[in-house]
Amino acid sequence: MQTLLLWLFYISSFYAFIPGLITRIFGFRVFRRGITEHEYALTFDDGPDSVYTPKLLDLLKRYNAKATFFVVGSHAEQHPEIVKRIYDEGHLIGIHNYVHKSNWLMRPGTVKKQIMKTDKVIHTITGERSSYYRPPWGIVNLFDFAKRSQFKIVLWSSMFGDWRERIGADRLTERMLNKLQPGEVMLLHDCGLTAGANPDAPQQMLIALERVLEEAERRGMKAIRIDEMIEAKEKAPERKLPRLKRASVKVWLLWETLFHAMFRLKSIRPYDPFIHYRLRTYKGQTVEMNDGATLSKGDKVIELHFDNEKLFRLGVRSRSMVHLAIQMIRATEDQFPELARIILSDPELQQAKAIYGITMINRGPKNFGFKIVDLKDGLFARSTTMYLKFLLRIINPSGQERLKDHAEQMVPKLLVMSVAQLIERFSESGSHRRQQVKEPSDPQEEKKGELLDLNLVASSQGIGSTPPAM
Ligand SMILES: [Zn+2]
Repeated sequence: MQTLLLWLFYISSFYAFIPGLITRIFGFRVFRRGITEHEYALTFDDGPDSVYTPKLLDLLKRYNAKATFFVVGSHAEQHPEIVKRIYDEGHLIGIHNYVHKSNWLMRPGTVKKQIMKTDKVIHTITGERSSYYRPPWGIVNLFDFAKRSQFKIVLWSSMFGDWRERIGADRLTERMLNKLQPGEVMLLHDCGLTAGANPDAPQQMLIALERVLEEAERRGMKAIRIDEMIEAKEKAPERKLPRLKRASVKVWLLWETLFHAMFRLKSIRPYDPFIHYRLRTYKGQTVEMNDGATLSKGDKVIELHFDNEKLFRLGVRSRSMVHLAIQMIRATEDQFPELARIILSDPELQQAKAIYGITMINRGPKNFGFKIVDLKDGLFARSTTMYLKFLLRIINPSGQERLKDHAEQMVPKLLVMSVAQLIERFSESGSHRRQQVKEPSDPQEEKKGELLDLNLVASSQGIGSTPPAM
């Protein structure tokens, strides 16, 4: 008996779990997440539902949002008028099996029948065939790979437990807002009649969604269909990078995720992560800061880290190092007032004497009020140099050649500013509120290859675990 169970386990693993795992980890041949600047995707599974889908359509129309509906064939058959309305109002229709059953429980032939039958239902109602398929519970089996020529498998990058009514609109809103960012593919449900769901759960979803749509509008973000999301990803500059580079970026971003979890980094603006921070004890040399205050060993400091994914995105979209530097200055300038506010409202952070980060030098950070200090030569300085060079190579595709020319000149430095000065300069109560920070504005500058004059603050993510002992 035991052997039989074990054998069954192996077979089922091979059939359903392993391919599922592969797609989850590597995003292999399956679409899960887009690459966009201001767009995100809303996807609704299990419908249509006679009560909630029309309400949802009203809501989407009010916010001019487009979505993707992965319909269950049998539900679509019961409510053709709703399917027609989804189609007429410009949303995309995908397939979510004919009955809501896991592919794991069905033979490949049965799965195929489920899909074809649903496709036919959609075609009869709308006159158009669907090219998008989402398996129930995201369970993909080997067969799904084989038939991929006809259908694109679409999974998701975030789900929220909205199929349970007890989650409540407030908690759901919070979870959704945490994930509201460009490229995100959100999984929601407009029907609570499938196994494991609560019939009136979509009621909570609709309340939460309205708040999310409101916030998205405020942030200038737009909900788009999955086909538009896929097209945008195919055109994204990131996709044009050589394969090896893309692979190293993936590994490196994975490291970033681990680093954030390990050291509990927080973001100044969680929905638009650019600068992360953490409170720690300073272990370096004594530094006299620009306002005359001193930072010594044992003082509390706020360590800053740039978000590498964002840096990478900015990098591949930048025409040059100068262009990249300008964008980084703008983003930093934009977020520092928020950092000042966060510090003022957090007694623990108020213990910090200074904020600091590691950079590849220059004048730019001086304009922010930073004191720039040399790192003493040692293992830390050397590993930081290596890491920052690697980082520059990744974030700036066009800069690789230039980087070689300037490699010797690039030395990491420590940037320090007292918290008092940060608040003075950037908080609303500060006297120099929102003063303009000077930018390297001359586009000719890049031609001169003046890399050292740029405000290229790089993250010390890679060596952040090593205390800056100098
Ligand atoms: Zn489902």
